[in-house]
Amino acid sequence: MLISGDIVKIREERWSNPKDTWGFVPTMGYLHEGHLSLVRRARSENDRVAVSIYVNPTQFAPTEDLATYPRDLERDLEFLAHEQVDLVFTPTDATMYPPNFQTSITMNQLTKPLEGVARPNHFQGVMTVVAKLFNIIEPNKAYFGQKDAQQAVIIRHLVHDLNFNLEVIICPIIREPDGLAMSSRNVRLDPQQRLAAPILFKSLLGAVTALKSGQTNATSLRQQMVSLIQTEPLAKIDYVSIADPETLEELELVENGALFSLAVFFGKVRLIDNLLIKTTS
Ligand code: AMP
Repeated sequence: MLISGDIVKIREERWSNPKDTWGFVPTMGYLHEGHLSLVRRARSENDRVAVSIYVNPTQFAPTEDLATYPRDLERDLEFLAHEQVDLVFTPTDATMYPPNFQTSITMNQLTKPLEGVARPNHFQGVMTVVAKLFNIIEPNKAYFGQKDAQQAVIIRHLVHDLNFNLEVIICPIIREPDGLAMSSRNVRLDPQQRLAAPILFKSLLGAVTALKSGQTNATSLRQQMVSLIQTEPLAKIDYVSIADPETLEELELVENGALFSLAVFFGKVRLIDNLLIKTTS
């Protein structure tokens, strides 16, 4: 396994056998089973696998948790060696954003709702770093988690709009036994918050159950999610949404596919979760 923050070395390895197909998993490290599910999928579908570990500062607002974002490179590298990863890209900020760096990618609509309301510059940072990583690694397939549902939609759109020559693969959300979606940020929950956090998934499941029993009015489904979460005093809702899975616009009626998603604070820790309902027609 080559571990390097050096773009030249990474490219040498990437192109050491040009016939090899490469799967790529971008991460911010502090790896858990969610990340590893992407790595395993990449391992099963490609000759070689690359993972990046980089906490990208430009996708964090000054008020957010960049400084306290959990990190443990040694442990991450052990996990990745165990998964038979070929290459780990671990760049520094100076490598990714040298002095006088001035380019960034924007997207007009998909970045605005949901996460974009509380995090207006977040996706600009994500798209720019992902585009750079794609250009450095040049993978055949890139793997992302459904956990970050809006990011998944945006990356697909970015690849389409900018003609990146790769396939985007979105992998299912991996959860703890009590339903909490795995996240590097979960370690920052105190024991009481951790006990309360599965209310997110419960509220999503409750709404989807109501939908399946015939309640198609999105306003009342949203209200049902809000009411359940409000029974938990440690939870502070940022948003609760039922949106079109492609345009991310809020729905009035759930007729076909829908993305049920939410963001909720437990103290300073902001958790997101979602359930994607596929079209029935
Ligand atoms: P992050 O390190 O948070 O940037 O995540 C790296 C990748 O792992 C992203 O594509 C995430 O969507 C994905 N991911 C994070 N948590 C999970 C999870 N619980 N299940 C599946 N994928 C996940």
